[in-house]
Amino acid sequence: MRIVLLFILLPLTTICQITKPKLIVGIVVDQMRYDYLNRFWNKYSENGFKKLVNEGANCTNTHYNYMPTFTGPGHASIFTGTTPINHGIIANNWYDKSNKISTYCVEDTLFHTIGSTSSNGKMSPQQLLTSTITDELKLATNNKGKVIGISIKDRGAILFVGYKADAAYWFDGSNVGQWITSSYYSHSLPNWLVELNKTNPAEQYLTKPWNTLFPINQYTESLPDSNSYEGLFIGEEAPVFPHDLPSLRINNHNYSLIKTTPFGNTILKDLALAVLREESLGKDEHTDFLSVSFSSTDYIGHQYGPKSIEVEDTYLRLDLEIAELLNYIEGNYQKEEVLIFLTADHGAVDVPQYLIDNNIPSGYFDAKKMSLELNTHLIKQFQTDSLIANVSNSQIFLNHVLIEKNKLDVKVLGTAISNFLIQQKGVKKVFTAAELTITSFSDTASSNIQRGFHHKRSGDIAYLLHPGWIERAKHTGTTHGSPYNYDTHVPLLWFGAGIKSNTINDFVVIPDIASTIAKILDIQQPKSFTGKPILNIFQH
Ligand code: ZN
Ligand code: ZN
Ligand code: ZN
Repeated sequence: MRIVLLFILLPLTTICQITKPKLIVGIVVDQMRYDYLNRFWNKYSENGFKKLVNEGANCTNTHYNYMPTFTGPGHASIFTGTTPINHGIIANNWYDKSNKISTYCVEDTLFHTIGSTSSNGKMSPQQLLTSTITDELKLATNNKGKVIGISIKDRGAILFVGYKADAAYWFDGSNVGQWITSSYYSHSLPNWLVELNKTNPAEQYLTKPWNTLFPINQYTESLPDSNSYEGLFIGEEAPVFPHDLPSLRINNHNYSLIKTTPFGNTILKDLALAVLREESLGKDEHTDFLSVSFSSTDYIGHQYGPKSIEVEDTYLRLDLEIAELLNYIEGNYQKEEVLIFLTADHGAVDVPQYLIDNNIPSGYFDAKKMSLELNTHLIKQFQTDSLIANVSNSQIFLNHVLIEKNKLDVKVLGTAISNFLIQQKGVKKVFTAAELTITSFSDTASSNIQRGFHHKRSGDIAYLLHPGWIERAKHTGTTHGSPYNYDTHVPLLWFGAGIKSNTINDFVVIPDIASTIAKILDIQQPKSFTGKPILNIFQH
């Protein structure tokens, strides 16, 4: 039925025979910009990224279509097929207006940690306001399709599956070094994972230094190893190879150190292989789903910046991990039985100081300083202290209790704050909540802010910085979060399940991923989806 329909929609092209896969493997590479595919292309092996690109469908123009481009919202958007305006994950951490405290996107004190005695398992997806594509798969199969999410980061595992997952596992660092979960999912770890944890999975990678995979003089796509744009591990004197992990772990939270090395990706790949094998995924007629989110790319990108040899080395090594995963899948399944897709949860900007030194407009915005000056300004104008309750994620939250008590006009106050903000160096635009809920914008950046704005959870005023500007005190390393190309443009590769080699240059947005999967599985779309199926991946 589906194939017939596609013929009607695309009468002049050849349609692949898409068989309903027995297994879908979704891969997220945290902070992977699209240009990393090209930048390191000549050094990638034939069996990792290159294989996905050469033998799969490459959507070369895939973008996040909201701000803030952070990990929590990114993973939630991939699987809910929509943006924060609907799924409500407006950042990693945000100011909870009703309880007047900061909240973390997956924290949930109703649950406890399974697998360690720390509090790092007190998590659940309950802040997510809609269903995911994997929730729809569970509903469609009466829970018979298995869904498992894994990542070093809790939010990378939890928000990449949703409410009805059978399991989500993430890494507990510090002195623990184990894979854990939350009692939201289960009251015990499966035996195979207990056994895997007994092997102390991270230990072997912290007993030797991190050296480059290839001779360091071959890393010509990057800046010199020691450059002023790179951050340092605590206690390290220069940002250079070899990074002496055995001595660094002492002052860098022991097992947590592995997160900022390529070996965080290695232990996650090992876990992915164990899940496939031990949970017999893809071995019956109900489609199973494994979500794998590689996080070390993000930690390393933040610390060293996109132009570092550390980032290059991390991608060259990740390429081999992906090759091993593909090799396992090819050895244990028919190619058409498994659909693999690979994307990222956001990109990153080059280190702004590097851009400044290269005469590219960019800069550092000090939100704390701005917040103090804004308060002083408002005291003068309204004779009231503390009218701002919180400043976070480029948004201002007003103190509504005080405003009511002092009988201030919110509109007048909003205009005063907007006027103040627009005068600040680095600020490009200012929006009030009212504007973001009723205006129809024609430019991409403003529309992206609107799609990332959740009226109930977001602030009263949002501001947009100029391209190349970030909120970060340090002038080493970098971050992400903006609605601009360097943060929104990510890879999207589809492979297996009858998909043939194809390059798709059409503009595609992240919510289209879940919509495409719903089409492939012939199940309902997630409840708030705004994407549309990428029908071109079925052509060749
Ligand atoms: Zn991320
Ligand atoms: Zn370096
Ligand atoms: Zn990040």
